[in-house]
Amino acid sequence: MFTSISGRSVLVTGGTKGIGKGLAAGFAAEGAKVVITGRDRDTGEQAAADLTAAAKADGSGGSGGSGGSGGEVTFLQGDVSDPESCAAIVGDTRERHGGLDVVCCNAGVFPAASLEEMTAAQLEDVLAVNLKGTFYVVQAALPALRSSGHGRVIVTSSITGPITGFVGWTGYGASKAGQLGFVRSAALELARSGVTINAILPGNIATEGLESMGPDYLRSMEAAIPLRHLGSVADIANAALFFASDEAGYITGQTLVIDGGQTIPESLEAMG
Ligand code: NAP
Repeated sequence: MFTSISGRSVLVTGGTKGIGKGLAAGFAAEGAKVVITGRDRDTGEQAAADLTAAAKADGSGGSGGSGGSGGEVTFLQGDVSDPESCAAIVGDTRERHGGLDVVCCNAGVFPAASLEEMTAAQLEDVLAVNLKGTFYVVQAALPALRSSGHGRVIVTSSITGPITGFVGWTGYGASKAGQLGFVRSAALELARSGVTINAILPGNIATEGLESMGPDYLRSMEAAIPLRHLGSVADIANAALFFASDEAGYITGQTLVIDGGQTIPESLEAMG
């Protein structure tokens, strides 16, 4: 049904764990060449080796385009809150792959602090990684995406902020809602060169990051989800693959909620 994306060049920020690792796995399984980034080198190198092995075991890869390395995942260390680091990551990815077609702005942190206790430094940190990091990566990738011919940006936002709220996550929610403001205006700026940008809004997805919230949090979340289970990283990857496809080329500036129906019921009673 869909045109193959085998051999396309994909960059996934925060691709060493959780949703980002799932995104990388999804693109590698389709034979794309993938660079994942994160701050921790050991975790990143291990994730890249695991993902490449999984893609090869899966028989993915196709021709791999000019580099012949489809399905291969490699790691680049970088911090998205630093514009110079973002420029270096994009430059190195272009060099490795001979171009850049898809950028997944996924790196994120979710520190909790009440309004009363949040320090200026904590607020700056969550905005710097989640919101400004999205700007910096897209800015750095613009020339490559414009010359790609099928440039795509996929932003991992959240239901928290754009749709829902949570005690302790004023900073996080603001960063995730801010990403959508960025996406809509960027969509207009990118449209002239045929590059699309869309956002995915995950609900509660089973990741290392979410597990660190503890078993009580996970249980209460499952109870609030109409489909009665947390989402998987593959659920998010499937949506990203769609946005990256040639067939999704007329969709830009949009959001897709993937939450098992969590944002639908107006009360617990409404769950039936
Ligand atoms: P995770 O398991 O904690 O993974 C986060 C990834 O981001 C890691 O690869 C991490 O690597 C990287 N990262 C963090 N800060 C970074 C920085 N400054 N520069 C570069 N990389 C950085 O988190 P996750 O649950 O997969 O979340 C991923 C994204 O999904 C986030 O944007 C989050 O807001 C969003 N999200 C998640 C859920 C969920 O249920 N899990 C729900 C809604 C939205 P290093 O630590 O090595 O840098």
